[in-house]
Formats: sequence, C-alpha cells, structure tokens
Amino acid sequence: MKINGNYKNLQESYLFSDIAHKVAAFCVRHPGREILKMGIGDVTLPLAPAVVSAMERAVAEQGDKATFRGYGPEQGYPFLREAIRAYYGTFGVFVDADEIFVSDGAKSDLGNILDIFAADNTVLIPDPVYPVYVDTNRMAGRRIVFAEGNEENGFLPMPDEKVAADIIYICSPNNPTGAAYTARQLQAWVDYANRQGAVILYDAAYESFIFGRGPARSIYEAEGAKECAIEFCSFSKTAGFTCTRCGYTVVPLALKREGVSLNKMWLRRQTTKFNGVSYIVQRGAEAAFSAAGREQIKENISVYRANARAIADALDGAGIWYTGGKNSPYVWLRCAGASDSFAFFDRLLEETGIVGTPGAGFGKNGEGYLRLTAFADEETVKKACRKLRAFFS
Ligand SMILES: *Cc1c(COP(=O)(O)O)cnc(C)c1O
Repeated sequence: MKINGNYKNLQESYLFSDIAHKVAAFCVRHPGREILKMGIGDVTLPLAPAVVSAMERAVAEQGDKATFRGYGPEQGYPFLREAIRAYYGTFGVFVDADEIFVSDGAKSDLGNILDIFAADNTVLIPDPVYPVYVDTNRMAGRRIVFAEGNEENGFLPMPDEKVAADIIYICSPNNPTGAAYTARQLQAWVDYANRQGAVILYDAAYESFIFGRGPARSIYEAEGAKECAIEFCSFSKTAGFTCTRCGYTVVPLALKREGVSLNKMWLRRQTTKFNGVSYIVQRGAEAAFSAAGREQIKENISVYRANARAIADALDGAGIWYTGGKNSPYVWLRCAGASDSFAFFDRLLEETGIVGTPGAGFGKNGEGYLRLTAFADEETVKKACRKLRAFFS
C-alpha cells in the first residue's frame, strides 16, 4: 500500500490556528480589552425568515407518509434548478436547467471537479487567492503556475499569451482582495482560454455582493464562455448558508473537450460519488429566490456592504492603499509601516484589538497586505473604524 505522496507537498495550514493562538495570548496579556473580530470569512447574520419557514414546511413534509421522500435526484430537484435558472435570467444570463448541478457548496465542487481532468494538465491560479485551488491541485500532483496580482494591476491579473495553461481559476469578486473583473476583462480571459483550448473554473461565490453596473455577475456575460467555462456559486456568503450548506455549479452543454461533453462527465461523476443535497435544504435555497427571500437577503448583504464601505472610508481618510470595500465583503489593505503582514497583524491587534488576516496566508503576493472582513456587526465595525483612524494617524 502506498499513500498519495502528493499530500507531502501541501503546506501545513496553520494560518487560522496561529491567529487564534495570537488572539488568546492577547486576551491573557490584556484582560478585559475588547477584541474586534474581522478576520474570518464567515457570515454573522442569521438565515432569512423566508428560508427558515420553507425548511420548517419541508421538515413537516418529511414527517408525513403522504409527502415523505427518499433518495433525491443527484443533480438537484427541478424546483431549485428552475429557480437558479430564473435567477440567472434576472441579470441577463441564460442557462439551461440541465446545465445546473446543485451541491453542498462551492468548495466541494471546486475540489471535486478536478476528477474529470487529467493529472498532467497545467493549472493557472491567481496569487493571492482562496487557498483551496492550490491545495486541491497539489493533492493531485498537478503543475501550477501563478497569475500575479499586485498593486499595478489592482490585484486583477490579465492573461499573458506567453503562459500556456489548461485549467484557469478566476475568483471574482476575489477572496481575499475584494477586486472584481468587468465583463470586458473577463472577455479577455475567455478569448485567451478559447485560443489555448483551456477550461476556466470561475468562482462566483461573492456574485451577490455586486450591486448595479460595474463588475460582471457571471463569466457567461462574456461571449464564448459557454465553450470554455464552468461557474461555481454558493448560498454560503449570499444567504448565510455556511452551516446549512448549499451551492450550485453550471457546466454548459456546449463545453466539450476531445469530443466529450464535460456536462455528461460531471453528471456521471456526481451520480456515482455524490448523494445530493437534502430536500429540506433545497427548499430553503429555493426560498432564497422568492420575492420575500430576495428582499430579506438583500437587507443582510446591505449590512455587510455598508460595513465594507465604512472600513474603506476610514482607510481613504488615512491615505492607506486598499482594494475591495465595494462589491465585496472584503477590504485588502497595504501593511503601511510594517516589515511583513504578520508583524502588521501583531501591531494592529496590540494597538487596536482588531483581528484581521495576514495576506501572506493567501499566497506569496499577499505578503505586505492584510484582509479585513465586513462580516461583523455594525457596532464592531464602527469601533474598528475609529481605531483604524487613530492607528494610522
Ligand atoms: C467561502 C468561499 C467558498 C466556499 O463556499 P462554500 O459554498 O461554503 O463551500 C468558495 N469560494 C470562495 C472564494 C470563498 O470565499
């Protein structure tokens, strides 16, 4: 028996446990001082009432012999796939219900999709970014090249014709930087992918934080994307489903490689290895798209968006360079006056009690930056903004 030796190439992920230790040590040093938690990318507001009552009704159905259900369709119940299809239509993107796969979340699908690709593909991953893309590919032993995000490109790297890639990750709005591509910029990525015969894996987990015109809501706003892109989305950050669990992935019927439909491959993979999402949760997800659900969720997102805006305003006042702060729950700021992002994290915690996330945890290009999240209550953010102003003055 041989283990998968690729696991030896994973970097130990101490980031969030390191942070927890530093915060615990701070509390011991300064008993009674307030901690302002803006570090972890997890929602803080509860499920929308429309979602809760839909799930309560579904639980009651499952307790009644007349309406009880056993195994469900692996791809998701038609009622939810239809609701997702209609939702795409609200921002002018047309997808077929057969192209939509309901899952327990974007992270699972982003990792599992790699099952349908050979191990000897070269993968292009933005740096800095959500660490799951790098780790899932390292586990399979794939060659990784990086698309460099930096201040010059506003942490939105564009394609480089000299770089050959088979699988391309794009995260927009980006975690951790909050930067988001316009449809025109995505068009350049789609054209590049189609020229290379590559497949784009587009992570739209923060799509619902985009209000009005500006950034794109979906990769399918670019022409030719149905021939090269798979899109991942989630109810986690949108509707507070990080514990409840539900997401969806779009694999276009037009997406073929070596004469094989990737939609059919993914269907085969999911029907073999995935049991689907519980009926109760899918009814909750469906309710997130109802008129009442949409209104309630929008209120929650507005709270996070206002928090992000307040942090950005405080940084504007202090003259600190940052990205994000709009169309995203994240603000990504330059670690002014510190040698590296961990030293900056320590100083900020010591002087203000604010807990952020050191940028180095998101890739080499994250060094020198810190992520603050807007997933906190308004009071915490108001206090943090006052402290940030004092800290930088
Ligand atoms: C939070 C997050 C996800 C995970 O979504 P789940 O549906 O909870 O698995 C995926 N991508 C990015 C960029 C995220 O920040």
